[in-house]
Amino acid sequence: MEDNAGSMAEVPDLIPARMLSEFVYCPRLCYIEWIDGEFVDNEDTVDGRFQHRRVDSEAEKIQEDEFETFHARSVSLDGSKVGVTCRIDLLEGEGKRVTPVEYKRGRAPDIPEGAYEPDRVQLCAQGLVLKENGFQCDQGIVYFVRSKKRVLVAFDKALQQRTRDLISNLRKTALKREMPPPLQDSPKCNRCSLAGICLPDEVNLLQEIEANGGVEKSGEKGLLGKIRKLLPARDDALPVYVVGHGNMVRKKGDLLEIWSAVKDGALGEKDGAKEERGGKGKDGRVLEVRLREISQVNLYGGVEITTPALADLMQRGVPVMHFTRGGWFQGISSGHTHKNVELRMKQFEWAMDRKKSLSIARCLVYGKIKNCRTQVRRNDPESPAKVLEKLDKLSGDAKKASNIEKLLGIEGAAAEIYFGRLDGLLKGDQGFTFQNRNRRPPLDPVNAVLSYLYGVLAKEMFVTLLAVGFDPYLGFYHQPRYGRPALALDMMEEFRPLIADSTAITLFNNRELSERDFIKTGIGISLMPKAKKRVIEGYERRMETEITHPLFGYTVSYRRVLEVQARLLSRVLSCEIKEYPAFLRR
Ligand code: SF4
Repeated sequence: MEDNAGSMAEVPDLIPARMLSEFVYCPRLCYIEWIDGEFVDNEDTVDGRFQHRRVDSEAEKIQEDEFETFHARSVSLDGSKVGVTCRIDLLEGEGKRVTPVEYKRGRAPDIPEGAYEPDRVQLCAQGLVLKENGFQCDQGIVYFVRSKKRVLVAFDKALQQRTRDLISNLRKTALKREMPPPLQDSPKCNRCSLAGICLPDEVNLLQEIEANGGVEKSGEKGLLGKIRKLLPARDDALPVYVVGHGNMVRKKGDLLEIWSAVKDGALGEKDGAKEERGGKGKDGRVLEVRLREISQVNLYGGVEITTPALADLMQRGVPVMHFTRGGWFQGISSGHTHKNVELRMKQFEWAMDRKKSLSIARCLVYGKIKNCRTQVRRNDPESPAKVLEKLDKLSGDAKKASNIEKLLGIEGAAAEIYFGRLDGLLKGDQGFTFQNRNRRPPLDPVNAVLSYLYGVLAKEMFVTLLAVGFDPYLGFYHQPRYGRPALALDMMEEFRPLIADSTAITLFNNRELSERDFIKTGIGISLMPKAKKRVIEGYERRMETEITHPLFGYTVSYRRVLEVQARLLSRVLSCEIKEYPAFLRR
């Protein structure tokens, strides 16, 4: 047994033959899918599954038209000596002599071998498993659905040896627990459904910058400017917000319905968040959304959700977030948590190591201070040069802080300077001013909106980190405390000025909020329910804003950027890149 086997999650005894095919195509793809347990569909993978379903349903017809005989379809078989498990699409033959048939969705390639190597290796692995189970098998068939062509693959000695070598290499890779490097500028990445997880060009660029002493290579030799946009700028699925005590979320077929607490059809302050978009039906239903178009459901202040709705959302992997009326994030209902145990083990290892934690925390605070500076520089033309200089210096100090306590001090000093200038970012004519940052409770409207938005942003980061495979409660900068989503708070630092503060300033400066939107509660100030909806809408507008990525150069939404940053953090923990690259707006 390998040395590291005891401390790491175990590698399954048998390698699925399909993973062998992926390993040949791209070792990293195989690792992400098989070891990290991550998978995302794209057009090709959905179509591939559809074609395989067709294989199952049309097996009888295909038997008559294309093959003389076959004995079974969708045959699952293990070969413990070969070390492979497989599911054979079709098995034809007589007695002990059999031929496995593997269906591929595309057209037969015009190459001498008749089929690509990943397909031939997968088929050969099936042949080896069949032999181990007592069958005679010396050839297989790849059936290309689009061109309706059968390609015979002989399991000659060379192919068998290649297949055995690949099985051994894949097992070694899995035991090593190191994600293979991304392909370099490969056309394979263009169609890879895992590109958004793998980030091939991004990782290659960051490694190049690190190898070049932190400097971006320019011109023909460098990767800068050659980063392909392999991830969509925005998600098709979007969040749903339901605000107001007594509102109800139900499931009807493929739809999620939001029902108002007010039965007579009159709109009140308790209506659903999307009330403004479509109005409310006479029966009290304010909105219906296709379940497949939902990325998350956010319930604010005593909204009810039925068990069938919750179960369906869990099955789809759509998280349901619960908030108090005031916007305090209470918890999450989700299906099975992420399967990437490796990442969580690394996260715990790094969090326990003060030096490693500090190296990440420094970058997070550096990014936050830099973005605060950018916010002031861009939006406050009267800002004195020395304010920008001080923030610059503090960001540099953050990068060199010798411990977390010093870092906290630097962050505090920068926050005082930044919030000292925030009033200058507000247009004077809208009647709102900002003196200083206060909370629990916020004492003025601007602080009330900031607190609310920080809560929403923390939730966003929480969900993103969960989706990537992190434990959102264990951070590197914010210390662990019961119920505190420390990593979500860590990772939102660099985005506070860019997303939350920017949304608040826009809402006030565009006069989307007025004095009537706030209410005094005890010594504090709270947002009225309708105003909360407007704040959420402003926040969503910001999250969907497409920006040019300052380092990678492609356009991307802020929501996507959060995920990219979380994935880059995971690459730091796996030592693929040395330093967490904070997202810095220019
Ligand atoms: S994006 Fe490219 S490097 Fe990454 S897993 Fe896919 S094929 Fe491999």
